[in-house]
Amino acid sequence: MNDKASQSPATPLLGAGEIRRLAEELGIRPTKTLGQNFVIDGNTIRRIVSAADVDPSETVLEVGPGLGSLTLGLLDAAKHVVAVEIDPVLAARLPETIAQWRPERVDSYDVVQADALRVTELPADPSALVANLPYNVAVPVVLHLLAQFPSIRHGLVMVQDEVADRLAAPPGSKVYGVPSVKAAWYGTMRKAGVIGMNVFWPAPKIASGLVAFERHDPPQTSASREEVFAVIDAAFAQRRKTLRAALAGWAGGAARAEEALVSAGVEPSARGEVLDIHAFARIAEGKPKP
Ligand code: SAM
Repeated sequence: MNDKASQSPATPLLGAGEIRRLAEELGIRPTKTLGQNFVIDGNTIRRIVSAADVDPSETVLEVGPGLGSLTLGLLDAAKHVVAVEIDPVLAARLPETIAQWRPERVDSYDVVQADALRVTELPADPSALVANLPYNVAVPVVLHLLAQFPSIRHGLVMVQDEVADRLAAPPGSKVYGVPSVKAAWYGTMRKAGVIGMNVFWPAPKIASGLVAFERHDPPQTSASREEVFAVIDAAFAQRRKTLRAALAGWAGGAARAEEALVSAGVEPSARGEVLDIHAFARIAEGKPKP
């Protein structure tokens, strides 16, 4: 494991005082809509960077650098950081913060002012995604970036703790659902810790969770990702129903749904919450022709 950041406690990181000063100087009031909760604790940053296991040869994509807390930590561990920030005021200030705190790394980053949900091109190919994500769009951002940038091989994201549990849930678990199955299309997700509320400004009302992931090949299937995801959406839209009933709309009737389930080797009276991504792929393959 690359433990460079945690081994260098002398490396200055932004604390509560610096974050408040920066926010005051910029006249910003953190907004809930953009999930703006800034990390004010250097040890938390070191913990995130260490858990992300970034190699010094890597280009890291950071979504939502905010005031730069995590960006500075990532610059200590990676070769290059590409930071995508939607807020124009924060995006414009980041270069100055880096110049002040990491003057030796001013050639090692790019800032892109964009919505991470829509970004389709980056100035460099990232091999890792490491981010303290805006909570209200965390799952769609992760799914979009994994779909859009196949160069991302691994990563670590901080999200609401309950979302972390959902992303990492195995089939059959109470919190297994659409995020768990779709994320499993791309990779293996693992819960990598819980972060308390008081390391943020402003403090959120709920704890945060870390999710580490490793990309793997998608399931081998003749169905497209969109076709497989359509089955997942249908199965969980009515999660208390049997798959035979829940997939009736998708298949063009309950009898056709049963046919697709049987040919996929899935019990028609089962519920979606027990199926893994491979089973959903097999069901999508067997969709009856209209
Ligand atoms: N990385 C900083 C930290 O750890 O202190 C800030 C994290 S804060 C939870 C989320 C950041 O994401 C904010 O800076 C916010 O402006 C930004 N953001 C929100 N929605 C975004 C989007 N759709 N695309 C890119 N950035 C976004």
